[in-house]
Amino acid sequence: MVMDFIVKDLDNNYKLDAFRNKADKIIFEISSEISTANCPYCGKESKRIHSRYQREIQDLPIQGKKVVLLVSTRKFFCDNDACCKRTFSERHTFVDANGKRTKRLEKNILFTSSQLSSINASKVLKNSNVDISKSSICVLLKKMPCFEKKCMGIMGDYMNNLMYAMEHSYSEMKIEIDQILKKTDYTTEDENSIFYAVGKCLHAMLDYAERIRSNDLDKDTLDAFKYANNGLKHGIEVETITKPTGGITFPIQFPLEIPVRRIIWKVKWDARSKRQEEMYLKHLDGKDVVSTCGEFIERLKKLKKV
Ligand SMILES: [Zn+2]
Repeated sequence: MVMDFIVKDLDNNYKLDAFRNKADKIIFEISSEISTANCPYCGKESKRIHSRYQREIQDLPIQGKKVVLLVSTRKFFCDNDACCKRTFSERHTFVDANGKRTKRLEKNILFTSSQLSSINASKVLKNSNVDISKSSICVLLKKMPCFEKKCMGIMGDYMNNLMYAMEHSYSEMKIEIDQILKKTDYTTEDENSIFYAVGKCLHAMLDYAERIRSNDLDKDTLDAFKYANNGLKHGIEVETITKPTGGITFPIQFPLEIPVRRIIWKVKWDARSKRQEEMYLKHLDGKDVVSTCGEFIERLKKLKKV
């Protein structure tokens, strides 16, 4: 599933079970793929499930919308006779035992708060649909070790923040395009929204790519995206392709092909750098915008930094 990476980024051992895009929030239902858990009190492993419940945890907003994770949580029996507890709830790596927000959201809140007073931070965060009060920010700040607090300055988490920005502008673009392509006809406003979303994603991607120091960076594809970015106003377009559904042979009355719409690269401008143009034609021209960006982002994230 397209939104899978949001979950895999939290923890590779979790999977996305369902995804709902509501008017005011986006909901991800997720669960762990590991069948056992260790008792947090005595450490003994258990696979005997007592019951299940859902925890509601707030995550980083997407497209200005609040994001809620509904995390399937199992209660296990602890079979260690010497243990003080009979049952325990499984812990999730990305949130504290009784936490209401993911660690990555808390990190983001702390970053904002380290730049502003907590009352202003609360306002800024509310604006981007993160629910947190001034007093909760103070509690979070107190919880953070002093050493980390010092590193929270602009430079400390700079690359991490650029990476968040890149991933989130990508998922925003993906959702925006999905929604617009579902419509039967688009307005100029829709076209502008697509341009805006693609532009934002490209900027965030190039921002990250240009600052990452790695010997394995694919400079050819980077140049291709630079060309696309500089010439973006000259072209991306909606293309309708027919996609074989595959596998359906009976009953034969079913149409064998369904039309699929997607956004493809169609950039043409007189760039000074012929190399960038060449790389663009080789790597991007006529290809799907969302998937080429997605693939490049995945590769950027895997780069070993030097
Ligand atoms: Zn135990």
